[in-house]
Amino acid sequence: MKVLRFAPSPTGHLHIGGVRTALINFLYARSQGGELILRIEDTDQSRSSHIMCSEIIEGLKWLRIEWDHGPFYQTSNFKKYRETAFKLLGEQKAYRCFCTTAQLEARRKQFEKDEGLYRYDRKCLKLKKNQIEKKLESNQPFVIRFLVRPGLTSYKDVIHKEMKIQHSEVEDFVLIKSDLSPTYHLSVVVDDKDMNITHVIRGDDHISNTFKQILLFKALDVHPPKYAHLPLILGEDKKKLSKRHGETSIIDFKNKGYLPEAIITYLSQLSWIPGDSKKIFILGELINQFNLSKLSKASPVFDYNKLKFLNNRAIQQKNSEDLYDLLIQRDTYQKNFTSIKKELVLSLIQLIKPRMKTLADFEKKFFIYLKGNLIYNEKDMEQLHITRETKANLGHLLKGLEKIDAFTKGSVETCLRECARVNGIEAAQLIHPSRFALTSENVSPSIFDVFEFFGKHESIRRLKNFIDFIDQQKVS
Ligand code: GLU
Repeated sequence: MKVLRFAPSPTGHLHIGGVRTALINFLYARSQGGELILRIEDTDQSRSSHIMCSEIIEGLKWLRIEWDHGPFYQTSNFKKYRETAFKLLGEQKAYRCFCTTAQLEARRKQFEKDEGLYRYDRKCLKLKKNQIEKKLESNQPFVIRFLVRPGLTSYKDVIHKEMKIQHSEVEDFVLIKSDLSPTYHLSVVVDDKDMNITHVIRGDDHISNTFKQILLFKALDVHPPKYAHLPLILGEDKKKLSKRHGETSIIDFKNKGYLPEAIITYLSQLSWIPGDSKKIFILGELINQFNLSKLSKASPVFDYNKLKFLNNRAIQQKNSEDLYDLLIQRDTYQKNFTSIKKELVLSLIQLIKPRMKTLADFEKKFFIYLKGNLIYNEKDMEQLHITRETKANLGHLLKGLEKIDAFTKGSVETCLRECARVNGIEAAQLIHPSRFALTSENVSPSIFDVFEFFGKHESIRRLKNFIDFIDQQKVS
C-alpha cells in the first residue's frame, strides 16, 4: 500500500506552496487507495508554535484535505531519534564532533577566504578513542555527525528524473545537536522509515536534502522511499512567491473570502492541466484524474487574477442561501450586519452576486447598500460630469418617483424614461447620476434593480442627499 505524509514545520503560516504539497500528497494517496499521514515537524522548538500548528490543521480542514493518521508531533519522538543517532555512532557510521560554533565559524571564514565553499573539515574524525573519552569526562558538549563515505548517490525523481551527487560535495552533516535535539535530516528519516512512507512528495527546495536522507536510509539498511519534488511556485516577477506579491498564507486567503474549491482548482491548474481551465473541480473529480507522472516540471507562476476569476465562478455556483451562510460566519458580518433582516441580505446577495470575486467584495457592498456608507469621490464626479444641470435633472426624476405607488424596476424605468423624454434629455443623463447617487459607484447591477432593492423611501432619501451634496460642491 502507498503511504504518504504531509510534514509541515509550524514555524510560520501555512503557505500556499505548502497547501499545494498537501493537496498533491492527498490526491496521490486517494487515487491509489493509499494513506496520508499528517506529521508536524516541530523539532525546532524555539521557532515552532502551537498557534501555527492549529492554523495548519484549520487550513487543511477548511480545504477538506483529509488525512488518515495523525497529527503526529516530532517533539514526542526525541528518544527514538537519539537512539538512532547513537546506534549509527556505535556502528562507526557517525562520529562525535566537539568543535564549537565559534571555532567552526573561524575556520569557515579562513577557508572561504583562501579556497572557496567550506565543508566540515573532519577535524574530530581524527580524534583517538582516549581523546574522546577525556572530552566526555570533562563534559565537553558535542554534536553527532554522519560520516559520508566516498561514492556517488543517485535516485530517480518522479518529476525531475535522474538526480545524482558526488559524495565529495556532501558535508558530514549533523544528526544530533549539542542539546541532544535531532536535526531535520535525522528526524525525517527516522519517521519516514518507521511510518513506512513509500512516497515523499515535497517542494523542490528539498532536493539537496534528499541526497543526505538517502545516505541515512542506506546507513540504516532501509530502502528509501520514492521522491517527487514539486517545482517552486513563483510570483509574476519569477521570484519565489512571497508577501510582496500578495497574500500567501492560507488563512489570509480564507479571510479575504476565497472559497476552498477555487483554491483547490487553481492549485491543481498550477500542477497539471485538469481539463477545462474555467471549470471548478471538486476533490473527487481531481482524485479521479490525478496522475503523479503528469505533474509539470516547470515552476508555475501564481496569478492572483486567475484565482479571482475562478473564485467568481465558484461564487456563481452557490445559491444565495449558501453564500449567506458563509457570509454570516465572518467577522465583518458579525461586527456590522447582524441586526439586518435576512430577506434583505438575501436579496442584496442575489443582486450583486454576478460581479463578486471574493466574499470580502460582498462585504464592501454591504457597507454601501445596507449601511449607506457612501463616499462621493471628486474624480468620479468629474468623470460623470456632475453639474448644476445634473442636480436639476435629478430633481425632475425625484418628482416622478414620488408619484409611483408600486415601486418596481418596471415602474421606475417607465418613470425615468418618461422624465428624460419630457425634459428633452437622454435617459443616460439620469441613469448614471442616479447610480452614483444611490451607490457612490459608477458600476452597479442594473440601476432599475438597484432602485427596486432600495424601495421608494430609501431611493428618494439617497437621491435627496446627493442633490444636497451637489449643492455644497463648487460644481459649475
Ligand atoms: N518540514 C519540512 C518543511 O516544512 C518538510 C519536510 C519534508 O517534507 O521532508 O519544509
